[in-house]
Amino acid sequence: SYRKGGYHAVRVGDQFAGGRYIAQRKLGWGQFSTVWLAFDTTNDTYVALKIQKSAAQFVQAALHEIDVLSSIADGAPSNSKFVVQLIDHFKHTGPNGQHQCMVLEFLGDSLLRLVRYNRYKGLPMNKVREICQCILIGLDYLHREHGIIHTDLKLENVLLVSTIDPAKDPVRSGVSPILERPEGNINGAVTSLIEKKLKRRARRAVAKISGQRGSMGEAPNSDRNIDGIDVRCKVVDFGNACWADKPFAEEIQTRQYRAPEVILQAGYSFSVDMWSFACIAFELATGDMLFTPKVGQGFSEDEDHLALMMELLGKMPRKVATAGMKSKDFFDRHGDLKRIRRLKFWPLNKLLIERYKLSESDAHEFSEFLLPLLDFAPEKRPTAEQCLQHPWLMEKDSVPDEMRNESSVEKVDVGISNLKIKVG
Ligand code: ATP
Ligand code: MG
Ligand code: MG
Repeated sequence: SYRKGGYHAVRVGDQFAGGRYIAQRKLGWGQFSTVWLAFDTTNDTYVALKIQKSAAQFVQAALHEIDVLSSIADGAPSNSKFVVQLIDHFKHTGPNGQHQCMVLEFLGDSLLRLVRYNRYKGLPMNKVREICQCILIGLDYLHREHGIIHTDLKLENVLLVSTIDPAKDPVRSGVSPILERPEGNINGAVTSLIEKKLKRRARRAVAKISGQRGSMGEAPNSDRNIDGIDVRCKVVDFGNACWADKPFAEEIQTRQYRAPEVILQAGYSFSVDMWSFACIAFELATGDMLFTPKVGQGFSEDEDHLALMMELLGKMPRKVATAGMKSKDFFDRHGDLKRIRRLKFWPLNKLLIERYKLSESDAHEFSEFLLPLLDFAPEKRPTAEQCLQHPWLMEKDSVPDEMRNESSVEKVDVGISNLKIKVG
């Protein structure tokens, strides 16, 4: 992809925007771009530089992302803390063409890496609560203040934020300035731990990789302690985000996080993000994705996905099941799936206890939080604003006080009675 129209090849030390940004190391990449850690010589800070591929459709996509990010950045700063900030943008010409570049605030590892780091065992419930709170404040801000639907919420698209001042952290001293890795924050430390671990693992040649997540022949008694990590995070990747009044794609969301109305093509709104959010919360708590549909003999991935949903959540109301443009592909006129006839009902509460060994009370409270978000009828799902008021988030003093006051919803009086809580 490093050819005309594709990625721009970057070397450490390369300068951008007339020398203002200096490339340090690659942070990641996606289908559209490579993302580099860069030093901003104007502000003396590290930033993430997202360099888009140069072909016309990628330029188009970048301009859209810049549009969304700029409008988000215009909001009240206290409420925008839980979505990534766009700092600057410019064009950069290289051998492969002209590349749109976005300068974003530099963030840490994704939640996927955090879950991997914890060996897909699921994070402690108080961590799950903290993360859920951050994501919900971010979503509430996007939905209510900007009318924006993210449409691609998943673990990769929520990045950790360091709460330690890099300048004061001793780990950073003694690192050469140009290749400097920002080890000074927790996330950098987590990253390097993973890398060390991976190298060790490679040396030991643990060959047994069954293809299943979390089955990589772990040594016993080597639990990582993530208790010390103060977990804060932000929502990123607005390449697929849209304004609710101008949706532009029919098929949105990454498969496993896709809401039923999207599969059925019955139209969508903010509530698709709430569905994905519930999938994220489950995955954080258990280490497993909530739904992992597969193509089977005689049925499609879509139909399997609908079947998995109904095995967990019960039968889809006929009205919802038949409301989409694709409903007839999957459901007969009674509202039963055409090709998958026998469903094994395993309700969330039981699943959490039996497979994930949650205590009865944890399982019960967590399912009461999740089930309304997984309502088949999109309009019945609580909004991010309502969800923030849910008692599960308030529990056990797990949420730091400063965070409680950060949400604008604190100012709005939404009583518990307004919540659409269904007892699971
Ligand atoms: P996709 O194919 O997912 O749409 P993309 O080309 O739009 O990819 P992003 O998902 O925005 O790119 O970024 C690619 C990767 O770069 C991310 O997964 C993450 O690892 C890293 N990254 C992105 N933004 C930041 C940031 N602000 N701080 C640190 N790392 C980041
Ligand atoms: Mg991405
Ligand atoms: Mg993207």
